Amino acid sequence: MSSFDFLDGLDAVPPTPILIAPHPVLRQVARPVRPEDMDALRAALPGMFSAMYAAPGIGLAAPQVGIGLRFALVDISEEDQRNPIVLINPEIVSESEEMAVREEGCLSLPNQYADVIRPHAVRVRYRTVDGAEEERDVDELLATCIQHEMDHLDGILFVDHLSTLKRNMIMRRLAKEQKARR
Ligand SMILES: [Zn+2]
Repeated sequence: MSSFDFLDGLDAVPPTPILIAPHPVLRQVARPVRPEDMDALRAALPGMFSAMYAAPGIGLAAPQVGIGLRFALVDISEEDQRNPIVLINPEIVSESEEMAVREEGCLSLPNQYADVIRPHAVRVRYRTVDGAEEERDVDELLATCIQHEMDHLDGILFVDHLSTLKRNMIMRRLAKEQKARR
């Protein structure tokens, strides 16, 4: 049995609501996942994947759905060839000196985008849903996405990488748009 069997019936799974900035939970530092958290973590995955794919988004961290644990989902593939990754207790082992600029968005800051500069490539170590330790070298979009999701585990949003002026501008625009939606 694969850990991702639930993906087959995902269309029937209600998406877990995603917290929108400036929700205070998005600013909290998540705690490491322990073995006794694994049942709750597995139970949260279908709703989280459903929310990420429905958005659509390429990453979703546990704090974005109000879960204060260090794990995140990532899938940068096309819809017809899904390649889900669950990173549990991820750590950056090393990063490239070479930096890359990429436009980022965030499901917790809908419709807001900005160029963010980060290491072009990273080596990341994490646990899988099956408990295996994995180490991977990633670059380009996947590296950006994983670094963005790992920031969420420390209460950091992509706008924190921008100038105060730019960050305030985006947060004001987001607040205005969210107000108009209600
Ligand atoms: Zn995000």
